[in-house]
Amino acid sequence: RRDTDLSTTENEPHSIYGIDRWGMDLVSVLPNGELGLKNPLKPDAPIASLPMIIRGLHERGIHVPMLLRVSSFLDHGIRTLNESFGQAIKRVKYRGEYRGVFPVKVNQQAQVIDRIVEFGRPYSYGLEAGSKPELVIALAHHLAKDALIVCNGVKDAEFIRLAILSRKLGFNTVIVLESAKELDTVLAVMEDLDEEPLLGVRVKLTHRIGGNWAESSGDRSSFGMHTDQLVEVVDRLKAAGYLHCLKLQHSHLGSQIPDVNDVRRAADEACRYFVELSAEGVPLTHLDLGGGLGIDYTGEKSATENSINYSVAEYCDNVVETVAYAMDAAGLEHPTLVTESGRAVVATSSMLIFNVLEATLYDASSAPAPDPEDHHLVSDLAAISGYLGVKRLQECLNDALYYRNELRALFRRGYIDLRQMARAEKIY
Ligand SMILES: *Cc1c(COP(=O)(O)O)cnc(C)c1O
Repeated sequence: RRDTDLSTTENEPHSIYGIDRWGMDLVSVLPNGELGLKNPLKPDAPIASLPMIIRGLHERGIHVPMLLRVSSFLDHGIRTLNESFGQAIKRVKYRGEYRGVFPVKVNQQAQVIDRIVEFGRPYSYGLEAGSKPELVIALAHHLAKDALIVCNGVKDAEFIRLAILSRKLGFNTVIVLESAKELDTVLAVMEDLDEEPLLGVRVKLTHRIGGNWAESSGDRSSFGMHTDQLVEVVDRLKAAGYLHCLKLQHSHLGSQIPDVNDVRRAADEACRYFVELSAEGVPLTHLDLGGGLGIDYTGEKSATENSINYSVAEYCDNVVETVAYAMDAAGLEHPTLVTESGRAVVATSSMLIFNVLEATLYDASSAPAPDPEDHHLVSDLAAISGYLGVKRLQECLNDALYYRNELRALFRRGYIDLRQMARAEKIY
């Protein structure tokens, strides 16, 4: 509780547990005190009681601990991301489209990927594969015709072969080059198959982000190319006559970006590369800004470890605005925007439910009755309840802390015994 105004005793469960801050309007408390799950797609539908769902499962022989997946929450995540980009594009009058891809590594469960593909189809939502098995997963799905499959990560010849051949099945599979060395393999497979791929390049941004995943951004991040490697790739593609295959520029800052200003600065830096590569004659049409859209787990709405200082809509507005501005300044067409948000799409859709085995209570149920044998500091401590009131709260706390700490010091030095100390702690 941060509020200092004691006259408004907000003892509603919503505020006590901060549900109105982190619940994202998906969960609520029912009048009987049970946790309720809303249906974000049908705001007028009755709110389901979570304990009732669990009791129902229990009757069917499914017991806790369990991982409960709420598909309407997943649908909501997909819809929120895609529609927020849609709205930002309209608002900024951006002359390009949004083509999101879901990174398979974030949740590879078949039911989850199936649902994402199904619900995402009207949005031409695609998939991101960071490994060969993930590409196989992506290719097993019926995506919208104009959806993308973006292949990141270190790739061997087999991975590249599969990616190139998948285009014959109608998939828009993009091979994102992670290094100049990867180009050797790509060129070899291309000649062997006599097929052209859709290519991308992953640039390493120098801007570093805060938060848990700061290590994956900046100079030392393990993926992507520095300027010297980029120039090498462009020159070699030009020389080989395949520069026209290079369509997408990719960068990924890291996950759970706490500060929206980092999103803007990274988008800005990515645009610089996009403009420079275009000036080099690279026919780029897609700008992929990776993942990183965070979740406000604590509801603090601040740029701290488990919170973020922005909403999905703000993230989208910042990205679209920054790119539009940079492209207009350079006189370039607005590219198709791609992001690879994972966490923001799926994190709210599943919950781990387990039994509470025990609760440790800090408060004593009642203070012990005064005893004339008590040490005088114990009596002083007990006397605080006599003048405890809203107006003197701070004073009472100061006194209680003082007496308790004095008593603890006496106990450590052997001046009061275990039973006296126990009485003091209980009174405190
Ligand atoms: C992990 C990863 C993502 C997903 O990141 P989120 O923070 O979950 O959005 C996207 N792109 C790449 C390349 C990744 O490695």
